[in-house]
Amino acid sequence: MKYITKDILDVDDFLNLEKIKKPHDNHIHVKTVYNFKNELKISYINYIFFAKKYRLKDLPVNSRIKIADKKSFIEHYENPKKFSDFIDKFRHDNRSGFCYMCGALSAGTLDHLLPKDEYPDFSFFSKNLIPSCECNQNKKKNISSGLNPHFYQECDNELYYLDININGITNNQISYTFEIKVKKIFSNNFNELIEYHLNNHILKFSDIENYMKNQCGRILNNPIQALSIRKKITKSQLIEKVEDLYFIAKNEAGSPNRWDAVLYRGLLKRSVISYIFNEIHKQYP
Ligand SMILES: [Zn+2]
Repeated sequence: MKYITKDILDVDDFLNLEKIKKPHDNHIHVKTVYNFKNELKISYINYIFFAKKYRLKDLPVNSRIKIADKKSFIEHYENPKKFSDFIDKFRHDNRSGFCYMCGALSAGTLDHLLPKDEYPDFSFFSKNLIPSCECNQNKKKNISSGLNPHFYQECDNELYYLDININGITNNQISYTFEIKVKKIFSNNFNELIEYHLNNHILKFSDIENYMKNQCGRILNNPIQALSIRKKITKSQLIEKVEDLYFIAKNEAGSPNRWDAVLYRGLLKRSVISYIFNEIHKQYP
């Protein structure tokens, strides 16, 4: 999750609608959009209202848009060259970025938060378009994802953390558990929203648990190799090394919520660092 600032996307959707003139040619989708301009504006206002109240999941369907041919709105989105060129630009600019919805290390595409088939009025509404990975496609018709990163500056803070618990070693295999938890540092309403987002989007539709399981296994089973430790180090040097990895990940993503940043932050827990340090100490006493 990362806040989508005006530097990333600065579009006046109302002005864009205003600019659409009555078409004289056979662009049926433009005609429909033109005829439904006012309905679309009402939809946008509702969207912004509900998103800011932390309740986008409760957004009602605009019944008047429902009577229009939804294909026209979708077609309008799919023809961005002429009508909404910001979509192409936004898609291009974020090609190498990470998933703004779940924090995965790459985002495949620009996706609709509220699916265009259910909510055609937001097909080309900029605030409904978010660079994301498969998580957003996996949710398919589950429209209840709570967090829209266009609206929350809080997304640039640490929203979640990885809580690792080491149980011990059996048969040379480390046994541990982990849980991804909400960092409850905001207002109650926002805490509820990110909790909802974690349970109903991230944990349900993304691959985060597998990622954490693989990475924790890799690091905890063989920290010398995983962290490239080549000589004896002190505990504070180890902490510094993990902190560096955390800051690199965080700076690269421009957010502390990319999965690798969350992982490294989780390793800094006192008991985890002590375990890693002891493992390294066995090799380099
Ligand atoms: Zn994702």
